[in-house]
Amino acid sequence: MQYQQILDTIKAESLIRSNTGEVASYIPELAKIDPDKFGMHLYCINSGHYGFGNEDERFSIQSISKVFSLTLAMTLLEDELFERVDVEPSGDPFNSLIQLEYENGIPRNPFINAGALVIADILVSAIENPKQKLLDFTRKITGNPTIDINPKVYDSEKKHSHRNASLLNLMKSFGNIKNDIETVLDLYIYQCSIEMSCRELATAFMIYANAGNTLSDNIQVISPRKIKRINAIMQTCGFYDEAGEFTFRVGLPGKSGVGGGIASIHPGQYAVTVWSPPLNVKGNSELGMYALERLTTLTGFSIF
Ligand code: GLU
Repeated sequence: MQYQQILDTIKAESLIRSNTGEVASYIPELAKIDPDKFGMHLYCINSGHYGFGNEDERFSIQSISKVFSLTLAMTLLEDELFERVDVEPSGDPFNSLIQLEYENGIPRNPFINAGALVIADILVSAIENPKQKLLDFTRKITGNPTIDINPKVYDSEKKHSHRNASLLNLMKSFGNIKNDIETVLDLYIYQCSIEMSCRELATAFMIYANAGNTLSDNIQVISPRKIKRINAIMQTCGFYDEAGEFTFRVGLPGKSGVGGGIASIHPGQYAVTVWSPPLNVKGNSELGMYALERLTTLTGFSIF
């Protein structure tokens, strides 16, 4: 497959499109990002690295971190984890409170905020110093010890986390949060403020394309069975209330974040990441979705 040629075509096509998206501003620090940043990186199992643009510039991974926290939790626990969080698409915005009330505090899936907060609670119960452990886990699967958080994004979200605090309070009233709300919220905000580049994210996401193995360091991080499950949740729940649209247009499992990143995989083939900060109305990178749609169209390959 001529991946570099295909990526060059995607870049040329993308740059002449008018982008109607808007950079996330509800976390004030994110609003400062240059909307014209655009990078893409593909890491192929058989033939290595391809990319263009701002592929090496770190950005706020935000909700993409929910895949790493779920993965870490699944390395520590078995199926009992899914008694506290379901695996169904929500069809509601990522930070919605509505379903939680009538579904007795059990979030629809681990990739909406409520679900990721339950996973954070599980990590707080299961390990000492979960912030450092989650960061170390992210560094390990990326093979890069310099991955870190952006303290300004962390502080900024701390000051604007009332909705996530209400999700935690509501779930605690149903008995589905075991730890102190401030501690769980702190871990969640910390993981969202991790910064990575497209190249680093594609490298980390190789474990989802390669049956749980890092490929570069040949570390089996998690079992193929658990990777199958995580990929299934990415496919059905990875794009807020636009998971159906992403599956329809792109046809790959993946996860987006309000920092404008999308990380996606083709099992057995490659991991790919795009970054373009302006988001569509559902909160997904507008250009990122276009670029990935073109990737599966131009390669003629998706998982379907
Ligand atoms: N930290 C963000 C929040 O909780 C993450 C949202 C996202 O990327 O979807 O609002």
